[in-house]
Amino acid sequence: MNAKTIKDKLNKFKNFLITSHINPEGDSIGSQIAIASLLNRLGKKVLILNESPVPQVLRFMPGIERIMRKMPQDFDFQALVVLDCPDLTRIGKISQYIKPDTVIFNIDHHISNEYFGKYNWVNSNISSTGELIFELFKAFRLKINYEEALGMYVAIMTDTGSFRYTNTSPKTHSRIAELMKVGIKPYEIYTKIYESASLKDIALLAESLKTLKLSKDGRIAYLWVTKEMLKKTKASLEGTEEIITFARSIGGAEVAILFRETGTQDRIKVSFRSKGNVDVNALASFFKGGGHSTASGCTVYGKKDEVEKLVLEKTEEMLS
Ligand code: 5GP
Ligand code: MN
Repeated sequence: MNAKTIKDKLNKFKNFLITSHINPEGDSIGSQIAIASLLNRLGKKVLILNESPVPQVLRFMPGIERIMRKMPQDFDFQALVVLDCPDLTRIGKISQYIKPDTVIFNIDHHISNEYFGKYNWVNSNISSTGELIFELFKAFRLKINYEEALGMYVAIMTDTGSFRYTNTSPKTHSRIAELMKVGIKPYEIYTKIYESASLKDIALLAESLKTLKLSKDGRIAYLWVTKEMLKKTKASLEGTEEIITFARSIGGAEVAILFRETGTQDRIKVSFRSKGNVDVNALASFFKGGGHSTASGCTVYGKKDEVEKLVLEKTEEMLS
C-alpha cells in the first residue's frame, strides 16, 4: 500500500475513530492531530481516543484538545485508524470498541508490524508515522496548515531524536523545510519538549545515573529507574523517556538498556537502543516486545535482579 491507495480507501468512509499506542509520545500524538485535521477537512467525522493521557510536555500543541480518553455515547464509526502501532495489543483498552465489521487502517513504520488491518500501510524505512501522514497530505493535495505542520514536525523530530538517528533521510529534511515554511519554529518546539524538565525530573536522572554500568567488554551500557527513586524524588515515570540517551552516549557502547520499574508488581519496562550493529527489534521480540532495529522495547516480569540478568544474557548472546 502507498499514500495514494490509502487515500482512495479513506475516501470511502464517513466516520473515523483514530487511536495509537498506550503511553503515547510525539510521533503518535502529532500524527493523530495531523490526520484528524486532514479527515475533518474532507468533511469526515473524527474522534481521537487513547487509553493513556497525553504527556505533559506535549500539551502545548494546538489540536491537543481533540484527544479524548472517554468514548462519547453517541459516537458511531465505520473505520478505525491505528497509528504508530506494531500490533493491536498496543492500543490497550481501545480494542473494546472494535466490532466485527470495523474496517481497520494500520498506518505505521515499525519493522515488527503484524499487518493486523484490512488496509496496512507500513513502511519501516521511514523515520516516523509523521512522515507517512506528510505523504498523505501530498496525496490529497491539501495545503498544510499550522496545526497540522506542528503535529507532523513534533512527530518527526521526536522519532528521529531531533534528526540525529539513522532513520533521518534527505527526504526527512526536505519535508521539515516545508513544515518550517508553514511557520514552524524548531527552537521554540525543541525548548517546549526537551527543555522543560522539572527539578524533580533531574533529581531522578541523577539517581538513575548512579546505577549506570557497562558490561565487561564495554559493549552494553545499562541503567535503572526504580520505584524507590521515584518515591525519593517525587518524579513521575513520564519524565524518564530520555534517560536512555545517557547510556547510549558512552563510546563503545553498542546497546543501551533502560530498566524501569512500572509500579505494578514485578512488571519491568525495558527499553533498548542500538548504534546499528545489533538488531534490538529482534532482542525485544524475544521478550514479546518489538519496535525498530535501533530502538525497541518490551515488558519483562520478574524480580529486578533476575530480569537484569536475563536481559543482559540475551543481549550478550545477540552481540556474540
Ligand atoms: P521506548 O523504549 O521508547 O518505549 O520504545 C522504543 C520503540 O519500541 C518504540 O518504537 C515503541 O513503539 C517500541 N516498543 C516499546 N515497548 C514496546 C512493547 O512492549 N511492545 C512492542 N511491540 N513495541 C514496543
Ligand atoms: Mn513512531
